[in-house]
This record gives sequence, structure tokens and C-alpha cells, in this order.
Amino acid sequence: MSWKRIIGQERVKELLRRALKSRQVAHAYLFYGSAGIGKDAAAIEFARALNCEKGLDDACGECPSCKKVDSLHHPNIQFICALLVGKGEEKGDDPLGKLTDEQIESFHEQLRQKAENPYHRISIPKATFIKINSIREIKRQSSLSMFEGGKKVFIISNAEDMNAEASNSLLKTLEEPASNTVLILTTSQRDKLLPTILSRCQLVQFDPIDEADLSEHLIAREGIEPEQAALVAKLAEGSYDRAMDLLSVEIKAERESVVQFMRAALSSKPSLIFTEIEKLGAGTDRTALERALRMLQLWLREALVLRERGQSGNGHEYEDARRFIDRFPNANLPSALESVETSIALLNKNVYIPLILTNLAYELKKSSVSEQLA
Ligand SMILES: [Zn+2]
Repeated sequence: MSWKRIIGQERVKELLRRALKSRQVAHAYLFYGSAGIGKDAAAIEFARALNCEKGLDDACGECPSCKKVDSLHHPNIQFICALLVGKGEEKGDDPLGKLTDEQIESFHEQLRQKAENPYHRISIPKATFIKINSIREIKRQSSLSMFEGGKKVFIISNAEDMNAEASNSLLKTLEEPASNTVLILTTSQRDKLLPTILSRCQLVQFDPIDEADLSEHLIAREGIEPEQAALVAKLAEGSYDRAMDLLSVEIKAERESVVQFMRAALSSKPSLIFTEIEKLGAGTDRTALERALRMLQLWLREALVLRERGQSGNGHEYEDARRFIDRFPNANLPSALESVETSIALLNKNVYIPLILTNLAYELKKSSVSEQLA
């Protein structure tokens, strides 16, 4: 069941499951392929399956061991990535030992996010390389006796970030494999790794995520409208990371365009209203306009929730909605929402777009001030 967290990659999943089933797990793997396609995610699920108390080729997801992986707090599983070097840190020190509380917290925060979403791209400001002390930890930890059953798994994420010292240290570890230990290196830049490291790992190539798999994931797990999901999946070139970037850019731009339309409508300045109508209704893409109007509904609902909850406890992303309710505290928001719904219905009946938007601008203004006049 836990393999379900991986988008697509059926060939790779099958390969790893076969290794688990036949108990022929290699001592070291290199998961390689372009960025953002689920190499770390697969490494985490593989580590989970290797430590699950019940499942063989798939983790049960329910046992105490599986649960610990949910938070990446499993004593047998170490996640290694680029970290800062602490002040006065010397060779052999604990990799976190000389870091400040704040630096350790920022690392833990990244791990939390990774645990929550295994596709999360870890980013620690100014941490540019994987240091030798992080790699030395592998040797130290593998020599400790096992806390529980299962296998000790070390995931070296973006292994190309290892500096020369760290690479050489890893090479030594690979030359003397400890029993019950599995190393999983992930990289999108295989060529940057030492050939001697590559030759000691089982190479597992990851493909870009299938367009259909990515689109399905965006709909089912991220709640994206099917049409937008299909478009984003097409543009993302098989990368979850890129899909997320595209979505955030697109959504921000769309939101901004409807907020400007709303602003123009409330200004009662005909020239401004017509500029915004032209911008929003540009082209004859009725699907894009419908999406923008749905975004406007979302925005109005945000305003409604903000007003009901009062002023406190919300992020700055709602700033424009908050300003709106400050200015129009008695706006009839349900009626505004209804007029957007009417516009969408008219749009689907092929009514002339500038007419729909002119009418909508008028209705939005009326709903915003209506209660105040009454
Ligand atoms: Zn389990």
C-alpha cells in the first residue's frame, strides 16, 4: 500500500518489490534520473518496506515501524543531505553537534516537510554540500547494534552534493559493507559521482513521470481541476517539482487578475473597468475565463470566512480580501457569489463575453455596497 505514494514509476516499483520478495536486496543503490520525479520518495518507501513488521514487498503502513517512517523518525532510517558546517566543527564530530539551535531547527523543519510530502525539495539556506561528518555517521551508526529488527537504511539525497572528502569517505564505506545496512543514493547528476562509487551501487534508472499518472495525481491528491491538471502535466515534462512550480505561478497570476477586476469594479471608474474587462476576457477561451471566475468565487469565499472569523489568525496572503471587508464590512457576499455563478452559466450559454463581464462588474459593486445603503 505504501508504494501508492509514488506517482507512476511502475517499472522501478516492480524491480524493488521483486528484490524485497526474493530477499535479494543490494547493499547499495543509486536511484538516478531527472529532478522531481520521485527518487527520494521511492527511497523512503523502500526503507519503510525493509523495516515493516508485517509486509514483505510492500509496507503495511500500520505497524509501529511504518508509523515512525511517517515522520522520518525511525531509528533505522537516516536521511542525509547537504548541511551547514558548524563553527569549529572538526572531522569526526556529530554532523549536527556544532550547529546552532536555529540551524538544527531549520534542518528538522525540512525533514518534517519531507516526511509529510516525500516529493518536497529540501532546501537549507547556504547549505551547499554534503559534508564528511554526515557520511562518517553511516559507519558509526552501522556499527551500533540494531535497535529493532529490519535493516539500517541510509538515504543520501542528491548525492552529487557530496564534496570530495565526503565522496572518498563514502567509497570506503562502500568497500566494506556492513551487514544489515542498505545505502540508497539519489541523484539527478549521475556524471558528477565518482565512477568508483557508481560501480559499487546497483543502478536504478527513474523515468520522467507519465503525463497521465501526473495528471491523475494532481486531480486526486492536489484537488486540481481536470483540465488544468492535464495542461500542467503536459508542461511539467514528467516532473512533480515543475508541476508544482507551474501551479503556484499560474494560480498566483490568476488570482491577481481577478483581484484587479474586483478592484476595478468597485472603483466605479468606467475606463478602469473596461481595461480589466478587456484583460480578463481577452481571446475567446471560455474555459480559461470560467477558471478565472471560479477563482473569483474562491476569493469571495475567503472574504466571507475572514469576516465570520474576525480579523485575527490569518496569513498575509489574504491581505486583499481583508482590505475588502474592512472597506465594505456589510457587503452582501452571498449575492456577489451568486452573480459570479450567473456569469459562469451565461458563459456556458455562449453569451458575448464583454457583456457578461460588464454586467458582473456592476453586480459586484451593487452587492458590495447594497447593505450599507439599506
Ligand atoms: Zn508496517
